[in-house]
Amino acid sequence: MSYSSNSCATAEGVRSIVILEPDVPFSKVLAMSIWAETSIPPCVVSSAAEAALYIQDHPEAVNIAVVGLDVDEAPLLLETLTQESIPCIAYGEDFDDESRKRLSTMSIADIVLGERSVLPGRVGHVVKRIVSNRDVDILVVDDSKSMRLALVRFLTTRCYNVFEASDGVDALGVLGKYPTIKLVITDNEMPNMDGFSLIKEIRKTHSKDDLAVIGISGKTNSLLSVKFINNGANDFLNKPFRKEELYCRVDHNVEMLDRIKLIRDLSNKDPMTRLYNRRYFFNHCDDFVEQAEAEDKTLITAMIDIDFFKKINDKYGHGVGDEVIIKVANLISEAFPEAAIVSRFGGEEFCVLSAHDAGDDLFARYDVLRRTIEATSIDVDGDSVVVTVSIGVTKEKAPIPLMIKKADELLYAAKESGRNRVSLS
Ligand code: GH3
Ligand code: MG
Ligand code: MG
Ligand code: MG
Repeated sequence: MSYSSNSCATAEGVRSIVILEPDVPFSKVLAMSIWAETSIPPCVVSSAAEAALYIQDHPEAVNIAVVGLDVDEAPLLLETLTQESIPCIAYGEDFDDESRKRLSTMSIADIVLGERSVLPGRVGHVVKRIVSNRDVDILVVDDSKSMRLALVRFLTTRCYNVFEASDGVDALGVLGKYPTIKLVITDNEMPNMDGFSLIKEIRKTHSKDDLAVIGISGKTNSLLSVKFINNGANDFLNKPFRKEELYCRVDHNVEMLDRIKLIRDLSNKDPMTRLYNRRYFFNHCDDFVEQAEAEDKTLITAMIDIDFFKKINDKYGHGVGDEVIIKVANLISEAFPEAAIVSRFGGEEFCVLSAHDAGDDLFARYDVLRRTIEATSIDVDGDSVVVTVSIGVTKEKAPIPLMIKKADELLYAAKESGRNRVSLS
């Protein structure tokens, strides 16, 4: 496939991947593998000039370039792209010493080598990793500025989001400010607070399954790795290290955290709406109540049910019905960005446990949600569907199962009195 601005057109802002591979059958297999892994349909070009033209036409969209090393101009193209900070993945069966030397001077995200039969799978996996790294926040902690800079450069080449701290105290401040950080790479010997103490502090609030720590030390003392691990680090790296070794450890730890999150989500969340399920609700409601009481907040339990939903299924089919449930679920969770457990209790019925400040207008809060749902037209399969919900809300203090029963009675009352309304007591 060759480049033409139409065949590879990308909507503005949409992530795109360009592949330089002149062998058409092979390029198709490669593109399919990357597409399957990332859900991004890549654009295939057959020469460096076409690649440059495509990138010029889509300066904001091109996120990743995948470059076959067999192409003569590949090193020159890689040089240009890396200078423009476009993440590059190079692949090939092998390369000579001269190419190796030249490539080692560039900030290439990854070089994938292997026989042609295994390359598409491997490249697809690496591209997926690089795409998802954009959402991974890493904190680098080292008192040596040059070491910090080197780590930041290595990690940003792999598209990770990197934060920096110059000692343990600084690191705790950054972690407090950016709770999305999921990996900390820390030196040990630092002023104010060393790496061991930092890890001990981190472990008071974050388990190894929530936040991974990789310890780094320049001291050639084999006991250091044991000490790092004993203090709560997930992994350890000795200085000096090759960047490939760093990538290997970082990728491994991030993938481990991802797998743990996936397993947790599978058991705690409803796969269709991504809301918490009943099990999560009942396992976590006591902690939620305790926290709300400690903060002197008013606790609310609400049951929400879509009105006449059977008619939606009957008129449009179950597929559209599912889309409607997902949209309503999204609107409910968007309505409670702060303290709340928003869960799908079953079918088209949702339960929300929320905590509110003393002066909050509780009726208004749920009535805004009701009106938002009523005002949202849901586009599915060329049809525009509008649904309403009835909501039962209770603030009467009682054990959670009793609050749910009360909210259910109020929901029933809302249905009886005409639907599309909030009933509160
Ligand atoms: P009401 O206003 O009284 O709530 O009327 P309703 O039609 O919504 O009645 P009800 O709550 O009893 O019906 C819920 C329907 O939702 C019944 C069931 O077939 C359908 N349903 C349950 N789960 C799903 C689902 O996951 N997907 C789809 N499409 N439909 C579902
Ligand atoms: Mg140091
Ligand atoms: Mg219903
Ligand atoms: Mg129902």
